Amino acid sequence: MKIVAFETREDERPTFRKLEQKHQIEIVCLPEEISKQNIGLTKGATAISILGHSQINAELLNLLKENGIDFVSTRTVGYNHIDLEEANKLGIRVANAYYDPHGVADYTVMLILMSLRKYKQAMWRANVNDYSLKGLKGREMRNLTIGVVGTGNIGAQVIQNLSGFGSRLLAFDTRKNPKVESLVEYMPLEQLYAEADIISYHVPLLASTHRMVNRETLAQMKDGVVLINCSRGELMNVSDVIDAIESHKIGALAMDVFENETGIYHQDRRTDIISNRDMAYIRQFPNVIMTQHIAFYTDAAVETMVECGVESLCDFVAKGETSREILAR
Ligand code: NAD
Repeated sequence: MKIVAFETREDERPTFRKLEQKHQIEIVCLPEEISKQNIGLTKGATAISILGHSQINAELLNLLKENGIDFVSTRTVGYNHIDLEEANKLGIRVANAYYDPHGVADYTVMLILMSLRKYKQAMWRANVNDYSLKGLKGREMRNLTIGVVGTGNIGAQVIQNLSGFGSRLLAFDTRKNPKVESLVEYMPLEQLYAEADIISYHVPLLASTHRMVNRETLAQMKDGVVLINCSRGELMNVSDVIDAIESHKIGALAMDVFENETGIYHQDRRTDIISNRDMAYIRQFPNVIMTQHIAFYTDAAVETMVECGVESLCDFVAKGETSREILAR
């Protein structure tokens, strides 16, 4: 079997090489995203592996099918960059990756603590030898109520991580997770919004979650609410969020993701003009922390993502199925 792996980074290559040996397959590693220009490189292969910046739309899927590609795996948990309906229609089978949720969950707790302890302002000041305290008073976790929206793999691990801090923990999900039921109070989203001091989002990007943080839902939240988004930028209506920061409705915001981050995050754009005004504007607030979609990026997770991405393709070919297959909803 030949796999063409797109968007491969240097730090993934040793695992790809190890899997080539283990499964006796050929894996061609390319650094670039898949596009109409380079899709010809998939001829003669059975499957492709991608990361989240390759937009697998209907046009590319049809070209892949013509080239004989039957399987696509994304080495990411999120899969909103793949047109699943079209893939299902064409009979191209798709799988996503799984990796332990600890890296993203740890990162989420870090962002909560950084927000509560005004770390960005403290760092800015320390860098210019301003060691004054004024304005840097933080808050303690044990006195706060934290709402977790989405209690799947990552949300549940966030709850487990938070359970040692002494905070009151609330949760909302369309289905309860028995792993954490004893640690949180499940409640309707509106009630969570009314009671939480900190809200952390761990839902996938779906039609039902697209821009779920907006003018109306922000109005249901406490004044000075702290929002954490380690999920997807599109969960938030950025313009409404900016208004809420300016009106002090939002007390602090930490985001590891941003709407339209593709082509910006994970790239060195130092010498470019980046035409994303919202990103530039929101970044300057002293109470907003933005990182470049790195919550997942740990040694353990990278290895598992590559393993998962390749092994699901091997399973499709050898067994006709994989537990990581994803279908259009
Ligand atoms: P998961 O599928 O295990 O959990 C998602 C949960 O959201 C499920 O329990 C589901 O029932 C719930 N849900 C779905 N729709 C909902 C809705 N409308 N309202 C409330 N709950 C809803 O996924 P996960 O592994 O926990 O990952 C969550 C998301 O985190 C991913 O979809 C991805 O977008 C994001 N993510 C980000 C990073 C990063 O580096 N920042 C890394 C991995 C994943």
